[in-house]
Amino acid sequence: MSNPSNHPADLSHKLRSLPSVDRVLSEPALTAVLEQWPRPQVVEAVRAELDSARALLGAGNGADAAFAPADIAESAGHALSVQLQPSLRRVINATGVVIHTNLGRAPASDAAARAMSEAAAGYSNLEYDLDAGERGSRAKHLESLLQALTGAEAGIAVNNNAAALYLVMAASCSRREVIVSRGQAVEIGGGFRIPDVLRDAGATLVEVGTTNRTRAADYAAVLHRDTAAILRVHSSNFRIVGFTEEPSLAELRNVADRNTRGLPTLLIDDVGSGCLLDTRQFGLAYEPRPQDSIEAGADLVLFSGDKLLGGPQAGLIIGKQAAVNRLRSHPLMRVLRPDKAAIAGLSATLQHYLLGDAVETVPIWRMIAAEPDQLRQRAEQWRSAVGAGDVEPADSAIGGGSLPAESRPTFVWTFPHSHPTDAARQLRNRPVPIIVRVERDRLILDPRTVLPGEDAEVIAALRQLVGGDA
Ligand SMILES: *Cc1c(COP(=O)(O)O)cnc(C)c1O
Repeated sequence: MSNPSNHPADLSHKLRSLPSVDRVLSEPALTAVLEQWPRPQVVEAVRAELDSARALLGAGNGADAAFAPADIAESAGHALSVQLQPSLRRVINATGVVIHTNLGRAPASDAAARAMSEAAAGYSNLEYDLDAGERGSRAKHLESLLQALTGAEAGIAVNNNAAALYLVMAASCSRREVIVSRGQAVEIGGGFRIPDVLRDAGATLVEVGTTNRTRAADYAAVLHRDTAAILRVHSSNFRIVGFTEEPSLAELRNVADRNTRGLPTLLIDDVGSGCLLDTRQFGLAYEPRPQDSIEAGADLVLFSGDKLLGGPQAGLIIGKQAAVNRLRSHPLMRVLRPDKAAIAGLSATLQHYLLGDAVETVPIWRMIAAEPDQLRQRAEQWRSAVGAGDVEPADSAIGGGSLPAESRPTFVWTFPHSHPTDAARQLRNRPVPIIVRVERDRLILDPRTVLPGEDAEVIAALRQLVGGDA
């Protein structure tokens, strides 16, 4: 109150001296803005700034605020630029978590990104038979690739793996029983619970066994002529260790085949991650592969497109012809069908596996395959370019509902900070946000998930951060 500029006469003087709209529009700060935006929107933005200045002064505040024409122009330009910033933006993932669901799971390979962009930007033969010159099928584009890669008779894509499971339950198990082990009636994430999905799709869940041990005989004991399916769900995001037992898929095939009196009992396997490669080559536990389940006799095998397959968001369903055909003709197929960009991206991604170059071309495999020595070199480069921090060994999680509790050895750049959560926020507030780990009183950045070409941005950000903390 002792501040002399808060005197009412002073405020009213400030009110009167607020610049006119035209005066603000002539400021150099708005020259480029006026070239980009329609004039009425710039005028509107300037008016809004002047209004809020007036409101502030009218309330007896803002005496210390700057209301010169240049300041108003700057604020208006900023307000407009915020509107142009897309809500969904590229970020740099320095967490080391390869399949990070919150950060969009798998980045596309160059070929897949090109294919998706081309499909989005132009017309395509999405549902057009180029030989016949007439209406074709959207489902055809992926089928031969899926057959070649997995040995399945048939294959289709839907919007995601949750949709795949819902479709299978609704189309093939509604008003009938589905047997699931108690250890597999789980929550996959984001409120997606197996018992709820089954109930919602109209199937009746019959739980067997116990959380840790279920035997083939437990399934056989409840199987009858109306059993629609035996469903196996891979424990993608948790692990039960110790005194455990689960029948193999081949054993479950035998159980399902014992129903010879009613409609056939389907053997359905939700493998989750869609891992087509042998993960043991990277020192990881073996992740069950869709082709294994086909070989073991599953009727339908379900998996995601954007986990360890490394493609766009999708759910893939492969299996026996008759079982897949039933899904194709169900009305829900139209509800759940993937868009043209996803089909194009999946197709390009699957081709990498066909050519055997997935480890070099599919980003998630390149990241998983990266050896600690390479990662140490990158972390060291960051350290010497930034001139601060330490490099130390750590672990990168695979993440995203695949290979639970599995990690690969890495080297990280670490930096002690007095306010690490503030520092992490500062990194998130950059034009290209950088997402890092905070552990106790330090920041941790793992080069494993930082894409090639993003190192310079990381270094620039860290230099600024380190300078700011000094
Ligand atoms: C991830 C996962 C799902 C859900 O897949 P989305 O593609 O995320 O819909 C379903 N089942 C299993 C076993 C999973 O791991």
